[in-house]
Amino acid sequence: MASFRWSARLLISLLAVAATIGDPTLAAPASPTDARTPQPAAKPQSVRAAVSIVPLQGLVAPIVAAANEGLPPAREPAVVPVIPPGQSEHGYEPPPSKLAALREVDLVVVVGFGLDAPIEKFLAQTPAAPGRARRVIRFAEAAGLQNEEKHAFAHGAHDHAHEPGKPCDHAVDPHLWLDPLLVVRLVDSVTAAIVETVKSDAAAKARVEKAGQELRARVLTMHESYATACAGFASKTIVVGHDAWRRLASRYGLETVAIADLNASEPTAKALERAVQTIREKKLTAVFVEPQLGERAGKRIAEAAGVKVRKLDPLGEGDWFAMMESNLDELKAALGTPPAGATRP
Ligand SMILES: [Zn+2]
Repeated sequence: MASFRWSARLLISLLAVAATIGDPTLAAPASPTDARTPQPAAKPQSVRAAVSIVPLQGLVAPIVAAANEGLPPAREPAVVPVIPPGQSEHGYEPPPSKLAALREVDLVVVVGFGLDAPIEKFLAQTPAAPGRARRVIRFAEAAGLQNEEKHAFAHGAHDHAHEPGKPCDHAVDPHLWLDPLLVVRLVDSVTAAIVETVKSDAAAKARVEKAGQELRARVLTMHESYATACAGFASKTIVVGHDAWRRLASRYGLETVAIADLNASEPTAKALERAVQTIREKKLTAVFVEPQLGERAGKRIAEAAGVKVRKLDPLGEGDWFAMMESNLDELKAALGTPPAGATRP
């Protein structure tokens, strides 16, 4: 698995990219081809969007669908992911064809914190096609987490000492989409951006606002399901595939032990050993694996500790709600609930 370590230089270029996104004065001039392309006619064109990772697709599609209601169906899906399903979100280099599609959209949603750096770089360097406003939403900013980014930047040079054998804990966790309360803020930003895109059409604007409210409510219901279930778990520790689950865990009072690091690098022998030890000490019933990373390490741990292999999928197939529900089912199966009437310690 590709390791993707932040360097000070990378962070500086990321911040520069972030600063230029959305600023039309800094965008490169349109190519001669663009100049020859006739401006689209006044007839309404359907709204199109792109997202960097698949779970964001299901959080944007209902809002875009509301904007496009009544228009003839498009040949391609209205919301496309750049990183395809089944692919880890770490270290993916999108092919030029995938990046080129980012010219023809009204909205791009990226995560930020360096997770989708090649996409942000392309957006900074390549103008949108004529007739596309191409708003860019960075989840990190929509969630109000700029301070975490500044903190990471401050420590990006790694000019501070770490205890021997202890990893740097200043890397920012980019797995924002696994925390429903951060997702609510993203849904609000996406709704506002699509409202802005269709604002000249009062009916479309009203439909988009309503769809945004409905989506927001569904995400909050998911949050309630997690909060209720996790409060009742007999055990609170999960051994997970890579270090993607800290935001979800801290939201719901769980504790994670990750086999692979924040960037899904190849697990170390020490990490496998620590996982087995945790399972034994805490009398856990399962080790969680992720479809994008393979089951090998998880199976070895399960055999050594005599527990089941279960699946926690940080990306899913494009439906955020299905992904979150299936993960909650797996958590319930592994962590259990105390028998009714039992008093918890
Ligand atoms: Zn990850």
